[in-house]
Amino acid sequence: MAFDFNAKDFYDTESYAKETARIFDICNGCRLCFNLCPSFDVLFKRIDQLDGEMDKLTGEDTKKVVDLCYDCKLCFPKCPYTPPHKYMLDFPRHMLRGKAIEAKKNGVTLQDQMLSRTDLLGTVSTKAAPIVNWTLESKPFRVLMEKTIGIHRERNLPKYASQTFVSWYKKHKKAELAGADAPKAVFFHTCSVNYNDVDTGKAAIQVLEKNGVHVEVPPQKCCGMPYLDGGDIDNAKKHAAYNLRQLADYVKKGYDVVSPGPSCSYLMKQEYPMLSDDPDAKLVASHTFDLMEYLAKLNKEGRLSKDFKASQGKITYHLPCHLKAQNIGFKSRDVLQLIPDTEVEVVAKCSGHDGTWSLKKENFKMSLEVGEPLFEKFRDGGAAASDCPLAQLQIEKGSGAKPRHPVQILRDAYGMEKDPEG
Ligand code: SF4
Ligand code: SF4
Repeated sequence: MAFDFNAKDFYDTESYAKETARIFDICNGCRLCFNLCPSFDVLFKRIDQLDGEMDKLTGEDTKKVVDLCYDCKLCFPKCPYTPPHKYMLDFPRHMLRGKAIEAKKNGVTLQDQMLSRTDLLGTVSTKAAPIVNWTLESKPFRVLMEKTIGIHRERNLPKYASQTFVSWYKKHKKAELAGADAPKAVFFHTCSVNYNDVDTGKAAIQVLEKNGVHVEVPPQKCCGMPYLDGGDIDNAKKHAAYNLRQLADYVKKGYDVVSPGPSCSYLMKQEYPMLSDDPDAKLVASHTFDLMEYLAKLNKEGRLSKDFKASQGKITYHLPCHLKAQNIGFKSRDVLQLIPDTEVEVVAKCSGHDGTWSLKKENFKMSLEVGEPLFEKFRDGGAAASDCPLAQLQIEKGSGAKPRHPVQILRDAYGMEKDPEG
């Protein structure tokens, strides 16, 4: 059966159990993903404990596998049985269905409700950023947070900015449309850029405008990924519907949608058409690009400036899972390697942060174990990059390196001043 968020029996536990048995049986015969993540590890070890008697797997066994899935999507492109294969196997989305059924049955947990309200948290926290940032570093407060909402006390959290990206952009002197055939892009800024890592947004606008792109930033909400992480499909659908209303008209006028966040661009490309049956969802998805993918496209069209002023030496670059799952190749590496005397070493390993998963006290330590093979590569103290803001945090936690978004490195290479407008 093809996966369908809108199927009548989506929340039906009997139909879910039947589909789980079918999928686990196929996976047991295949085992290609045996070392990909804790979900598969636990599943296969349990099956072996039961001497392969699959009908002895319990609902509790399934729940363990579901809870350990952090939705990195790495098993999907690896799997030979995904649609259009007749098995129609979609392991990550089936895990998501398990989380959604749990949330429907018992309500979305307080922890997931807190973690998914990125817009609300960001709006409030940026208004009092110095106090909020200080409080989030305070040990007694972190212990309280761990005890009440289950966020691990040692999890490094992103700092809040005093000025949001949106308020900076309102004052930014926008570049005019340079001719009828100039490229046009709607910038989907992401929550991370709006409330935390504003400089990545500023660098993106500087680099896009340097390359003659006319940029618009319409109102937008969180892409919806944190809601999916908590199994809250209804809220994910509402966020998708809002963003689609804002973006579709621009796409119809010839704009592309460009986002610096791998998880957000992944969601818009792959999940919006499944969350929404509005034809605009497919339209927006087909015109959505990851920021560095878009710059690589400009390069292919001969539009990317090579007016580089500063080489960047050796950069260790982490390829995030949600870019790998977009199947677009190594676009950040390709663009950074255009900079003279710059060498990029790609490390395509999971950081283990994975959305809200590693924030939870029960997952934090495991997340560092998952990320260890990646951290090793970042311990030489050289320049570091990752497109994913959460992987950046996780790499910092595990290795001490401080990765930046590739577009910030590109801005430096162009010799452009950081933050010229304040
Ligand atoms: S999506 Fe990632 S975490 Fe989930 S089952 Fe697949 S590989 Fe494991
Ligand atoms: S998800 Fe696909 S590739 Fe991975 S173990 Fe299952 S059947 Fe094999």
